[in-house]
Amino acid sequence: MKRSLDANATAVRDSLTKTKLSLNDFANLISPAASESLEQISVRSQKITQQRFGKVIRLFAPLYVSNECINNCAYCGFSRDNAILRVTLSIDEVLREARELKQQGFRNILLVAGEHPKFVSNNYLRDCVAALHAEIPSVSLEVGPMETDEYKPIVAAGADGLVVYQETYDRAIYDTMHTAGPKKNFDWRLETAERAYAAGFRRLGIGALFGLADWRYEAICVAAHADFLLRHCWKAQITISLPRLRPCAGEFQPLTHLADRELAQLVCAFRLMFPDAGLVLSTREPAKLRDGLIPLGITLISAGSHTEPGGYTGAGREKIHHTERGKIIELASGASEWAATNGHATNATGQFEIADDRSPGEVAELIRKLGYEPVWKDWDGALMT
Ligand code: SF4
Repeated sequence: MKRSLDANATAVRDSLTKTKLSLNDFANLISPAASESLEQISVRSQKITQQRFGKVIRLFAPLYVSNECINNCAYCGFSRDNAILRVTLSIDEVLREARELKQQGFRNILLVAGEHPKFVSNNYLRDCVAALHAEIPSVSLEVGPMETDEYKPIVAAGADGLVVYQETYDRAIYDTMHTAGPKKNFDWRLETAERAYAAGFRRLGIGALFGLADWRYEAICVAAHADFLLRHCWKAQITISLPRLRPCAGEFQPLTHLADRELAQLVCAFRLMFPDAGLVLSTREPAKLRDGLIPLGITLISAGSHTEPGGYTGAGREKIHHTERGKIIELASGASEWAATNGHATNATGQFEIADDRSPGEVAELIRKLGYEPVWKDWDGALMT
């Protein structure tokens, strides 16, 4: 951490000339001194990315199947104490959403759910994956952490990737952010990727949610975690996401700030440190910034995203309700919550507000304009299907 603040121009130059970087080099590249050499760093990052991945940007879409949750995470709209409009989609409703995404072009879907064993059981997730996999070649999950044996049927049903963000690697801040529910257990979450690997997942996604702890501290921890996974889970592809906090229900304000220029520096530093890692950028970031970051080292982006269950087609909107202590509280007939909100297919509450609301087609067109080919399938999945 100290190195990432104190590195001088010579140390940055030395790290830039290496082909294999250490964590110390990574710390040098995210230092204030390295910010002075951002152009040089980004040229190198761009070159390495094109050598390893070609001029290709892969697209994926999140498919939220439930916004029920038993955890309280101070920064998340789905927290159990938030009086939001909740719903869990049936398998048919999940398929309806997936078919809409397929029609838009997507062949790579990230299935997302809050953590609630009553509404989002392991069997439910397995059945969602089985139904999706029949039509979509690449299905990943971002759901509450499980035991290895609980993951196995989900892998057998066709899921190939698991995403789990540590949110923050600072234990003290983690404790204050996670006030109720199983997510309070820092170590259980930290070891999730290894359990997923043991169950057979072959794409492991990690990341920190920038805006909770010092960004340089988080970045070094993410890099150390990725480095560990590359050595211990060597058959898996590692992807790293760089989400910054967005406004959500509960109106949590970020505790720390990661500026746009620092985010660009971070993308490049991760690329130089991990030439083969997937780097993910979501619609949390505004269009103009995404367009600028894509050529620097990003390999995977979402587009046209909705963070509310049923957001693509309105599936499940007639079932929306409140949940109190695990019990469904029906809305009164004629309640104001039923009133359609402008431009939304459902009134179910989203996890956070997206910043890039361009359609998938518009994003694909932009990728072409930047000189890249938009690819709708996952790279590994494309080779296997
Ligand atoms: S971050 Fe995840 S676990 Fe926490 S409240 Fe939101 S959905 Fe639930």
